[in-house]
Amino acid sequence: MTARPGNCKRWLIIFLSTGFLAQAPAAAASTPLVDLTEQEKSWLEAHPSIRLAVDIDWAPFEYIDDKQAYVGMAAEYIKLVSKRLGIAFDVEKKKSWSEVVEMVKQGELDMFSCVVSTAQRREYASFTRPYLSFPMVIVTSDQVAYVNGIKDLRNEKVAVVKGYATHDLMERNHPEIDLYLADNVADALEKLSQGQIYAYIGNIATVSHVIKRKGLTNIKISGNTPYKYELSMAVRKEMREFLPILQKALDSISAQERDQIYRNWIKLRYELGFDYTLLWKILAAVALVIAIILFWNRRLSNEIGRRIEAEKLLNDAHRNLECVNKKLVGYIDIIDRHVITSSTDRQGTITSTSAAFCEISGYSEAELIGRNHSIVRHADMPASIYEDLWRTIKQGKTWQGEIKNKKKNGDYYWVQAYISPVFDEQGEISGYTAIREDITDRKRAEELSITDELTSLFNRRYFNTLFPQELARAAREKRYLGLMIIDVDYFKPFNDNYGHQVGDEALRAIAGRLKENMRRAGDFIFRIGGEEFAAIVSVDRGTDVSLIAEKLRQSVEDARIEHEYNQVSPYVTVSVGVKAYHHETDRSPDMDLIYRLADDALYSAKEYGRNRVVEYDQVGDLPRYKTS
Ligand code: GH3
Ligand code: MG
Ligand code: MG
Repeated sequence: MTARPGNCKRWLIIFLSTGFLAQAPAAAASTPLVDLTEQEKSWLEAHPSIRLAVDIDWAPFEYIDDKQAYVGMAAEYIKLVSKRLGIAFDVEKKKSWSEVVEMVKQGELDMFSCVVSTAQRREYASFTRPYLSFPMVIVTSDQVAYVNGIKDLRNEKVAVVKGYATHDLMERNHPEIDLYLADNVADALEKLSQGQIYAYIGNIATVSHVIKRKGLTNIKISGNTPYKYELSMAVRKEMREFLPILQKALDSISAQERDQIYRNWIKLRYELGFDYTLLWKILAAVALVIAIILFWNRRLSNEIGRRIEAEKLLNDAHRNLECVNKKLVGYIDIIDRHVITSSTDRQGTITSTSAAFCEISGYSEAELIGRNHSIVRHADMPASIYEDLWRTIKQGKTWQGEIKNKKKNGDYYWVQAYISPVFDEQGEISGYTAIREDITDRKRAEELSITDELTSLFNRRYFNTLFPQELARAAREKRYLGLMIIDVDYFKPFNDNYGHQVGDEALRAIAGRLKENMRRAGDFIFRIGGEEFAAIVSVDRGTDVSLIAEKLRQSVEDARIEHEYNQVSPYVTVSVGVKAYHHETDRSPDMDLIYRLADDALYSAKEYGRNRVVEYDQVGDLPRYKTS
C-alpha cells in the first residue's frame, strides 16, 4: 500500500472503534444529571452506603495502592457514580478476590465494581451493561513479525492465566493450541520474556500495564483476536432494585469523562511498540508551533512582514508534522496488509478499505471506494441479520457476528466482523467502520459437518441441533412451526430392481425437488435417514402446513422418476407425516413428542395408501388425523 492522505485518521478511528474505548451513547455527552424516580430516590435514602467488593491487585482496572487508596479505572467510575448518586461506597480493602466473591454470595458485600458477566455469576448477581471493553491481544517476543490472529498459534505453546475468561475460551474454541496455564499475568509475561513460551493471550489493558511495570522490553503486542473483554458493575440479587439506578449513573458519564479515565490509565502507543524518536519529533514539532505562536503574538502589533515570516515557519512546522504522520503510516502498513477493514459513510458507501479487504474480496480499492458495502453481500445471508446489524450500529453500538460474503468471482468467504459507528465532534454518527477476521476455513469445516454427503441437504445431526432451536424461536415469536417427515414409497423394491446406484441418483433428484420448494427464510430441509427426509417450516398463524407438505409431495411425483414397482403410481412418490406446533394450543414445546406425532402421521399416510399427506391435528386432548 502506498501512503494515502487520510490514512492516519482512518487508523485512529479503527483503534477507537475496536473497543479500546467502551462506546458511550452519544446523547450522554452533555447531560451529567441522573434522572431518578421517586421510588429510586427513596431507595437511595434508605441505602446511603454500599459495601463494595473490589480486586485489590488488578491494575490498571482497580487496586489498593501503597497509601491504602482504592485506585484504577473502575475506581474512577465508582467515584463518579458516588458523586452522581450522592451515596458512599465502603470499599473492602483487605480481602482477596476469591474471599470477596464469597462475601457477595453470602450477602456480606453488596456489589462488584468491575467484573465480567458469566453465567455462573449471574446466578447470584445482576449486571449493568459493560462500561469497560478491551480487545484480547496476542503478545509475543519482539523477534516475531506479525501474528495474523489465533490461527497462527496452532501447535505453539501459548499461555493464558488459569481461571481467567481466556482460559475457558481457548480451551473450548481452540483445542489446536498447546495451552500453558500461568498463575498470573506477570508470571506469563516473564516466561514469555525468557523465551519459555511462544505467546500470551490477554486483555490489552493489563498486558500493557504489566509490561510497563516489569520493564519487559523484549516482548510486544503482535496480533489481535476476535475476543473482547467486557467489564460491568454487578449487584447481589437481593439488591436488584439498585441495578437500574446504577445503570442510570453509568449512562450519565459523558464520552469526554470516559475518554479522560481511559487516557489516565492506558498508554496505547507504548503498548504497540511506539518508536520514541517519533514521539520526540512530534513533541519538538509541537514545541516549535507553541514557540512560534508566542513569538507571533508579541510581534503582531508591530509589523505585517514578520507575520508572514511566522506563517512560513508555521507551514514548515506543519510539513514536519506531516512527515511524522507519514512515518506513522509506514508503521501501520503491516496492519493494512493483514487486517480486513473498511469504513463507510452513514449510508454504507465505502470510503476506505485495507489491502487485506481488497485481497479477500477480489476487488481493487478503486472498485470498492464509492460503492455500497452490499457489493460483497451474499444471497445466503438472511435479511434479518442485516436488519439486526443496522439497528445495532444506528443505536451507536458495536455489532459483531459471522457474515458470509461474496467475492468478485462469485466465490464466497466468511468473516467474523465487528462493526462500529464513528462519531463526529458533536457526538453524531458520521459513518461506520468494520474490522474482520477471515474464518472461511472454520466455516467450511462446520458446513461439512452438518451436510449430508449424498444429497448436500442438511444432515440428521444438524436436525437434532436446529429443531429445538427453531421450536423455541417459534414459541418466542408466536409463530407456527411445522415438522414434516417424508419417506419414499416402495423404495426397497426400487433398489432391488434398478440397483443401488440408480437408487442414489433418485435420492439426489428427490432432494433437489424438496430443496427447490423450501427456499423461504425459516425453511429447512434435511436427509435424516436412508430414504427419509424432514422439513421444518416457520409460518404465520393460520397457515395450513399440510398444504406446504402437499406441494412437496406433488413436486416429487412431478419429477416423473420411473418406478415400475410402485404400487400407487408409475413414478417415485413420497408419503408425508405432518405435525404443526403452536404454543397456545400445544402443551409444551417437547421436541420428542412433536417428532413422534409427525412420525405417527407418516405411518398413517402409509396405511391409508401412500403418496399422500397426513397431518396429526390435536384439538384439546383428542388426537385426530387430517388426511389429504
Ligand atoms: P415404504 O413405502 O413402506 O416406505 O416402503 P420402503 O420399501 O421404502 O420401506 P423400507 O423402509 O423397508 O425400505 C427403505 C429402503 O431404502 C431400504 C434401502 O433399499 C433403501 N435405501 C435406504 N438408504 C439408501 C441409500 O442411501 N441409497 C439407496 N440407493 N437406497 C437406500
Ligand atoms: Mg423408511
Ligand atoms: Mg420408504
